[in-house]
Amino acid sequence: MDAHTHRAEGHHPRAYVLAATELMAPPDHEKFCAGIHPWHISGYPAQKPDLFKLFSHRNCIGIGETGLDRLYPHLALQVESLMWHWDKAEDFEKPLILHLVKSSSDILALLKKRKARTHWIFHDFQGPADVVKRILKLHPQSFFSFGPRGLARSDSRHLWEQVPAHLRLIETDDSGLEIEAVLKMSQASPEEMSKNFHTAFSL
Ligand SMILES: [Zn+2]
Repeated sequence: MDAHTHRAEGHHPRAYVLAATELMAPPDHEKFCAGIHPWHISGYPAQKPDLFKLFSHRNCIGIGETGLDRLYPHLALQVESLMWHWDKAEDFEKPLILHLVKSSSDILALLKKRKARTHWIFHDFQGPADVVKRILKLHPQSFFSFGPRGLARSDSRHLWEQVPAHLRLIETDDSGLEIEAVLKMSQASPEEMSKNFHTAFSL
């Protein structure tokens, strides 16, 4: 039920997100997501052919993580890369995994211009809380994944409760924690988190 992890080991089911160095050789027997992280935007567009191959791999369950991070440079290129991943998510009918930092107004502006047709998974979601409703109005098939960073915040309960129960996910990301520890922090039931995981990734 781990919706986003970079850990080499962990309990299944989980969505392992490939690092930039793993795009040439995804792990065997592991469901994975592949994309160009906004922190590694220098890989765009050169890595497109490698990614294209990965997207049709039988173990590929999601496109990304892609996204926008205003704390990192080359925003215009980040947007171009995001739009390419968005196209591929729809071509391959897979969910789009998004990393967003200080760019909720950017993503809302993009969603106002173009309708999304596959599930979107906002990973390590940290608000702001009012954005949840605004995103869901434009794209009701959006899931919001919470990791240890977000769940440790003092207002995390408030943020968690802004998200409809069937759209909540949990993740370990790069924390090194087990998903069970994150589940405990979230106070969600394992059945619910497992069900949401399967729905989000259409498994
Ligand atoms: Zn990640």
